[in-house]
Amino acid sequence: MMRKKLGSFFMAVLASCVIGNAAAEGEQVVNIYSARHYESDKALYALFQQETGIKVNELNAAAPELIERIKREGEATAADVFITVDGGILHTAKTSGVLQPVTSAKALANIPATLRDSENYWIGLTTRARVIVYALDRVQPAQLSTYEDLAHPKWKGKVVARSSTAMYDQSLLASLIMLDGEKAAGDWVRGIAANFARPPKGNDRDQAKSIVAGIGDVALMNTYYIGQMLNSRDPEEVRAARQIGVFFPNQQSTGTHVNVSGIGLARYAKNRENALRFIEFLTDVRAQEHFSAQNYEFPTNPKAKKHQLLESWGTFKTQSIDFSTLGKNNAKAIQLFLQGGWK
Ligand code: FE
Repeated sequence: MMRKKLGSFFMAVLASCVIGNAAAEGEQVVNIYSARHYESDKALYALFQQETGIKVNELNAAAPELIERIKREGEATAADVFITVDGGILHTAKTSGVLQPVTSAKALANIPATLRDSENYWIGLTTRARVIVYALDRVQPAQLSTYEDLAHPKWKGKVVARSSTAMYDQSLLASLIMLDGEKAAGDWVRGIAANFARPPKGNDRDQAKSIVAGIGDVALMNTYYIGQMLNSRDPEEVRAARQIGVFFPNQQSTGTHVNVSGIGLARYAKNRENALRFIEFLTDVRAQEHFSAQNYEFPTNPKAKKHQLLESWGTFKTQSIDFSTLGKNNAKAIQLFLQGGWK
């Protein structure tokens, strides 16, 4: 069913143009399999197409489906590049054998080694921090300190959270398994679950809305959603975002959890040169500033300017762990969530 749906969507996207080798004579294309779900990306694809004459075809779906699809298609795949959020998923794509190293010296020079795979199977495009958001009228920032502290009984009935099926919290827990150990990470899940104001539900934005509605006082949220809400066309979202504070946890200890969004070159890319040019384009200062200005993400190119909201948060200490850890500890994280009662 899902396979059929994806297939027909893809045909619609690629109508009258290209799949893999079947490109019309002389037509230049790049085929993108992307799991990113942000409007900011579409404008960049259009700009690339306009400036290079290389037609951009996008297949948008959940990352695990895209990885499975590239595997299934094998050498016949249409995929030239794979784009997703989450360092754990990027690592999974690498170990699934669907990628090959990016060789463009230009792209590699754009992005520091810490924001790339150790063998360049993927290149970071943006980062985002998972921060604590809180009710400005009920919580003082001085009461906040660490992720770990949210499991303390003093927050009983005050924590709102999304389901642990979401990758964002799975990767946060994967990082805590690495930094605090499995036992402490399991205790943390149980402590948070004991503090829930309501059963986990909704997305990141809904957590902020629940705080404003008075259901809970604190939640975890990715930084770019705060930017999206503050600049939303929906006045209710703007109003909600103005009533929550943003706190970067673990500044005196292990650092705030940061995750990466990235791009990889497909192992059997047919339009390899176009794909590398596309990767160079997305890692260049202009596209990097666009990601920050339009989607409130942190650029991975250190020469790119951050959006002023991100600038206003100042610099902060980040976790120093390899992003592959998020993938390696993912299964354990899911297990701890289930055992600890965070559904
Ligand atoms: Fe997101």
